[in-house]
Amino acid sequence: MNEGKVYLLGAGPGDPGLLTVRAREVLEAADVVVYDYLANEGFLDYCPEGAELVYAGKRGGEHTLSQEEINRVLVDRAGRGLTVARLKGGDPYVFGRGAEEAEQVVEAGAAFEVVPGITSAVAAPAYAGIPLTHRGFSSSVSFVTGHESADKGESALDWQALARSASTLVFFMGVKNLASITANLLRAGLDGGTPAALVRWGTTCRQTTLVESLERIAEEAQKAGYTAPALLIVGGVVSLKERLDWFEKRPLLGRGVVVTRAREQASGLVRTLEDMGACCLQFPTIRISPLKDYEAVDRAVRELSRYDSLVFTSVNGVKHFFDRLRRQGLDSRAFGGRRLAAIGPATADELRGRGLEPDFVPRRYVAEEVVQGIIHHGGFGERILIPRAETAREVLPRELERAGFEVNVLPVYRTELAHNDAEVLLEAMGRGEVHYVSFTSSSTVHNFFKLVGPERLRPYTEQGLRLACIGPVTEETLSEYGFACQVWPERYTVPELAQAIARDAAGGER
Ligand code: SAH
Repeated sequence: MNEGKVYLLGAGPGDPGLLTVRAREVLEAADVVVYDYLANEGFLDYCPEGAELVYAGKRGGEHTLSQEEINRVLVDRAGRGLTVARLKGGDPYVFGRGAEEAEQVVEAGAAFEVVPGITSAVAAPAYAGIPLTHRGFSSSVSFVTGHESADKGESALDWQALARSASTLVFFMGVKNLASITANLLRAGLDGGTPAALVRWGTTCRQTTLVESLERIAEEAQKAGYTAPALLIVGGVVSLKERLDWFEKRPLLGRGVVVTRAREQASGLVRTLEDMGACCLQFPTIRISPLKDYEAVDRAVRELSRYDSLVFTSVNGVKHFFDRLRRQGLDSRAFGGRRLAAIGPATADELRGRGLEPDFVPRRYVAEEVVQGIIHHGGFGERILIPRAETAREVLPRELERAGFEVNVLPVYRTELAHNDAEVLLEAMGRGEVHYVSFTSSSTVHNFFKLVGPERLRPYTEQGLRLACIGPVTEETLSEYGFACQVWPERYTVPELAQAIARDAAGGER
């Protein structure tokens, strides 16, 4: 039997990019993962399929498993020769009870390792524009628990020493006791005007920071409704925020954007939106699936020489067509001298990735413009093959036929309704967490309303939820359901849709 081992892993403060390379390696090899509330749940995707996932809880005092139970799981699984990842928020040895768990594991004779994480105490201030040290302000830093400082009873903290230290002070778990923490610091001699900041949900799309003087911050935090998780930072360095802010300037920070694209296609849009600060809520309305029968496609692949040109209308069209090509032992050479058009830059890139430079890419996807472009470009011959989805709009083939081409429409994949829990989405809307719903095609609109009835969306649009469409066709479909589109890009591409949402959020004109 393999020797079991417990890895105490730091998951970092919340931004998925702040997980260490080593922690990811361990997760990828884990048999069991025991994780806390604060750790980003997306990390669980790194685990091998079939890994045992144990939620330990620990959300603001609520413990799903007691500390003894957690320890027991760690020791028991390691004893069975398994690789156990114990994933904790931030760094496991900074106010995370990691040391207590490690002691138990060692006592039980199991092997263990620690993978330090980026503690929120370092990352959250950095994302808030607050460096912990600066020659002009402080030459030491104290990490302090805000948990023990309730008024009653003896405080374990030496407030006089903290106040005298001229150190930057970082308080963990201090939101509930904010008033007594600040009172203690003032009583111990810290100046009431000392700058202080409360950083909530640091490094995540929900990050907000309250900057106030030490004597006012408790009251202001209460007014603003600040709750855990947040860090209190006290010291002159807080005044640097004004100049060093960067993360909180992101145009979509804190804005919830629903992405209705198929999960397989959504990553680009999600990434772009998240880089601009958005909290993306994936609600795929479409599932891309293969056809039941590929006979017609295989025949077309074999008889490619019968066509003069091909028009690819989507990334999926390219992917599925090439998949059949490959299955027949063919590659890009099968296209020979055929002319190629790609509707949209992403489709063009998909062809380029296979060594094929499209002859024509229209500037905008409007059927008439595409047809005019193809005619104008010349050399597309007479017979055109359009590999695309099983059900798609007929405008392009019809316009091409009207222009005198002989058109063969070839379904190469299917789109189906993806089943999703509308209640989860509506609850998020009810909590005010959704500011935009993005639609990237007419089918995302149709399917969205199959899952979420129009009358259930209406109250939220009336309250200011905004709808973003990739282009006029999608906008028209939306209007069939009685909704207007408030946001749309100049060019009908996914990256520009994301930019348009950001501009809208910043209050700019289209
Ligand atoms: N081991 C963790 C701390 C666990 S104690 C670490 O190294 O970060 C939990 C406390 O950490 C919270 O009450 C809060 O004060 C702080 N905290 C954790 N994540 C945070 C975040 N993303 N933003 C602000 N504070 C956070």
